[in-house]
Amino acid sequence: MKVTQFKTTALSLPVEPPRVSHADFAKVNPVVLELMTADGLSAHGIAHAYNDRHVSVLKGCLDALAEVMIGQDVFRGAEAWQKLWNASFRIGRQGFGISALSAVDMALWNLRAKALNLPLSRLLGGYRDEAPVYASHSLWRDWPIDRLQHDAASLAGKGFRAMKMRMGDKPLEVELERLKAVREAVGPAVKLMVDIRGDWTVTDSIRMGRRMEEYDLYWLEDPVPIHDLDGLAEIARALDVAVVVGEDVSTTYGFHRLLEKKAADSVMIDVAVVGGITEWLRVATLAYARNLQVVSHLHEEVSCHLVAAVPNGHMVEYLPFWHQLYTEPPAVTNGVLRIPDRPGLGFELDQQAMARYRM
Ligand SMILES: [Mg+2]
Repeated sequence: MKVTQFKTTALSLPVEPPRVSHADFAKVNPVVLELMTADGLSAHGIAHAYNDRHVSVLKGCLDALAEVMIGQDVFRGAEAWQKLWNASFRIGRQGFGISALSAVDMALWNLRAKALNLPLSRLLGGYRDEAPVYASHSLWRDWPIDRLQHDAASLAGKGFRAMKMRMGDKPLEVELERLKAVREAVGPAVKLMVDIRGDWTVTDSIRMGRRMEEYDLYWLEDPVPIHDLDGLAEIARALDVAVVVGEDVSTTYGFHRLLEKKAADSVMIDVAVVGGITEWLRVATLAYARNLQVVSHLHEEVSCHLVAAVPNGHMVEYLPFWHQLYTEPPAVTNGVLRIPDRPGLGFELDQQAMARYRM
């Protein structure tokens, strides 16, 4: 079964509610890749940018790499990945270059699972048919305390058993007050995580990590920038609370370095940053060899299959940026996402929604 055609579509979706962030975060811009075969099968993968001005760069990378797949045997996955890797040499192996490669790899896996009439999670390993999720779509840095408390209680009321706050831009005492307020709002049973996005120093991270244990912090994410692997290792060594990093790390090579340094207690893998499903699984195996769990980053419609496929899959990040693109988007019940019993990803594109958001 060979790839005969492809189509890429750049979209512009509003972020609701709008918020302050590192990135120019007024929009989310998925580029959807659809791969087609001669027998009429088609399947998609997704990459994304965060503003309208960047999306043409991403689409260019995706067009260039998808072109390489014309004539590719869908069931020669390792060969396909290596061709994409070779072709990416000048396009770039981080940023949009690896996002584009990841989207092509996603679409190929989606095609394979559809051709075999299997849910993707079962083709990839089939460890279980559901994945626990944590709420990551609220509790932002710019929320005032009363809104943090209201939204945290509301998420718990909807059945989320784990949720994540963002921190890193306020005085440390203020951040502690905010964590305390959220813990009070949700009670003791909910897992609480905080994501610093690399904005603290090693010293602050260790001091804060210890003080946050009082509020039963479940994990501390990206306390310092990802390039500071020695700093991350020092923090992980000093703290009892789990240090979770990896969302900005690409390829098994990147994760190999991170794990060699013992820079994480648990690994976060973004399927659109690491190099697609092929690399996600390789990194999950590297982590498995060290008895570490893996959590996903974004893309819950793909990530739920990955976390469900492997024995060390821990949790799926729930951050529904583009649910409106699917006819039946991923649904969470009692903090768990059930893998759809449909072929491939099991989430099909809503062509009317695609037309509405097309750039
Ligand atoms: Mg993060």
